[in-house]
Amino acid sequence: MERCAECGRWPYGGAPECRRCLALADSVVENGYQAFLAEHGLDDDPALAEMIVDEIKGYDWRVVDAAYERLTCTECGNSRGRGPSGCGPCDLDEGFRYAAREVDRPGVMSRNEHAIRVGIAVLRNGHRHSPMALLSWQIGLPLVLGGQMPTTPQAQAVRARINKGATYEELAAARVPDYTGWDFSPWPP
Ligand SMILES: [Zn+2]
Ligand SMILES: [Zn+2]
Repeated sequence: MERCAECGRWPYGGAPECRRCLALADSVVENGYQAFLAEHGLDDDPALAEMIVDEIKGYDWRVVDAAYERLTCTECGNSRGRGPSGCGPCDLDEGFRYAAREVDRPGVMSRNEHAIRVGIAVLRNGHRHSPMALLSWQIGLPLVLGGQMPTTPQAQAVRARINKGATYEELAAARVPDYTGWDFSPWPP
């Protein structure tokens, strides 16, 4: 896996500012929706998206996030759940969508899917999160996409370095925490 041709960071690590990295993060969600449509022989219809976000439970998180993407917030005009922090309906949607299913892929560490989901949400909606949370996921998302999970001490070590002002490149160069065998395989393939 090579660094992003547009921002020079590892894949995903430049989102949301880097359009190429952001497109990668968006594709994790969108590919899940397209697979869902194909599996059930459904058309990409806004009415279907409405139905999914009315139910949420029972649908995969990618399907729910992509359904929200297709609907517009009546208050701020952004995709639902993606407006500025403080937009009432978006704040509600942001919370509700966590009722969606998270099914770990085969062969990954437990709760890996939850980590992917949170990481994708933060990278796609950087404006709704603190710069520190954003930086930790810019570093961490490729790792969890590769199936790995930081231990609590590892996660704390990263947070401590970020709190002390470590930059993306410093963290990437130090490979902190000490993950064995970084795997930047994109997913879905
Ligand atoms: Zn990039
Ligand atoms: Zn809104």
